[in-house]
Amino acid sequence: MKIKDIFKNKDTVISFEIFPPNNKFPIEKIYKTIDELAELKPDYISVTYGAGGTTQGRTVEITNRIKNINKIETMAHLTCIGATEESINDTLKQLKNNGIKNILALRGDIPRDEIHNSHFAYASDLVKHIKKETFFSVAGAFYPEVHFENNDLLDLFHLKTKVESGTDFLVSQLFFDNEDFYAFREKTQKLNLTVPLVAGILPVTNYKQIQKVRKLCNARIPRKFQAILDKFKDNPKALEEAGITYATEQIIDLIASGVEGIHIYTMNKVHVTRRILENIKYIREGIREAE
Ligand code: FAD
Repeated sequence: MKIKDIFKNKDTVISFEIFPPNNKFPIEKIYKTIDELAELKPDYISVTYGAGGTTQGRTVEITNRIKNINKIETMAHLTCIGATEESINDTLKQLKNNGIKNILALRGDIPRDEIHNSHFAYASDLVKHIKKETFFSVAGAFYPEVHFENNDLLDLFHLKTKVESGTDFLVSQLFFDNEDFYAFREKTQKLNLTVPLVAGILPVTNYKQIQKVRKLCNARIPRKFQAILDKFKDNPKALEEAGITYATEQIIDLIASGVEGIHIYTMNKVHVTRRILENIKYIREGIREAE
């Protein structure tokens, strides 16, 4: 099924993101993770695409398993940095052969020290290319706090181009203050961008993680969340509990405010994802599905 059609039938679509196997997370562990996440009945599970190249081939393999063994809808991430047109076409062919209809089209981060040759310069170029085939539904990324390479007006302008290139829905970068998401949503409404906006939520469950997040996307930490991090920095169990509660509160507020999708960056942590879904059990049951 195309994920864009799931949005037509539900008030709020709940999805998970996982990463494919790597040196620290072997394939057997991924299979177990997917089996356990599937029990939580997400509307779809997306699988990241390693920018460094080492795990790239495994995204197709893992989405194939999710779709054809676990029978859960899935979305493969695909980046264009360093990719030739041929390598992109090869991946698209593999996805199509496995019946994977949904792709999150991304540019990827520009490597700092390497010269890269990329056939497609921006995600919107990749979207246009993928959309030549009606087989695929395509999502794109957006940044409620602005993508770090641009100012907000330019970034919004480029986002409009990405949507006009054929993007069916947009998934956000993680954020810790819902007001940033709402402010961005208002701007997109003024621009007449009517595609569903999905909120990406990262449950922060250990202190190291927040340092990585700062490095990766420099997300703003609101005072309330900073107090939690400072207070429970040396108490891992307390920090995990507080992180799960913080993410739950973000999600409840977003659903109450009419968000079209919640995408949980699970970091392959089943117990954390399970606890969040338990916290919103009755809210989820109340999510309206079209007849
Ligand atoms: P684009 O939409 O191409 O935008 C990148 C920058 O270029 C922005 O500043 C934009 O304003 C600007 N821009 C766009 N078009 C133009 C133009 N025509 N002219 C000039 N400037 C332009 N990375 C991975 O490697 N693997 C993943 O699996 C992955 N998954 C992600 C999932 C989500 C939900 C998100 C939010 C990010 C993910 N990323 C992933 C990270 C992403 O690759 C980076 O954030 C990257 O820096 C930007 O990708 P993009 O697709 O948003 O790029």
